Amino acid sequence: MDWHSSCIYKHAFCLWLAIMVAHRTRDKLLLLGIVDSALCPFNCGENESTEHLFFACPFTQQIWMQILNMCNVKRQIAPWSDEIQWMIDHSRGNKFPQTLRKLAFAATIYHVWMERNRRCFKNNFLNPDHIIHKIQGHVAAKLWSQKNPMVQAGEHYLSLGCNWGLFG
Ligand SMILES: [Zn+2]
Repeated sequence: MDWHSSCIYKHAFCLWLAIMVAHRTRDKLLLLGIVDSALCPFNCGENESTEHLFFACPFTQQIWMQILNMCNVKRQIAPWSDEIQWMIDHSRGNKFPQTLRKLAFAATIYHVWMERNRRCFKNNFLNPDHIIHKIQGHVAAKLWSQKNPMVQAGEHYLSLGCNWGLFG
């Protein structure tokens, strides 16, 4: 397994945890008495839960909105279970836009969770642009490590390729 696929494996595992609502979010830790407060580490004043992190929180919602824009998807952000269903309905097959959506979704979940951990455990903060840049870099690296689908994609996907920095 090369570096890129192991990196994407981590994304897929993190996505699976999120779909199963299995992340150790602060609402659960509060119930267990492990933390004193369930407050969201993105300072929005709400309590942290899976639903909140993905993507009811204003901080994470602006990241997901921007990533969807980069996928040329224009729509409102829905509750978490609806976001999962939307992705199931709109990422079937191996065509370029669908592949991109899947990679972008998993990478966004992963990097939001990493930033959440950075804030909880390291007291270290990245801004949304920096997080979006990390997501873009990982998705572009994965696409380049495949057989450069842009070569066959034709000009229909030019704007997607530009959005994700696939043309160098
Ligand atoms: Zn929040």
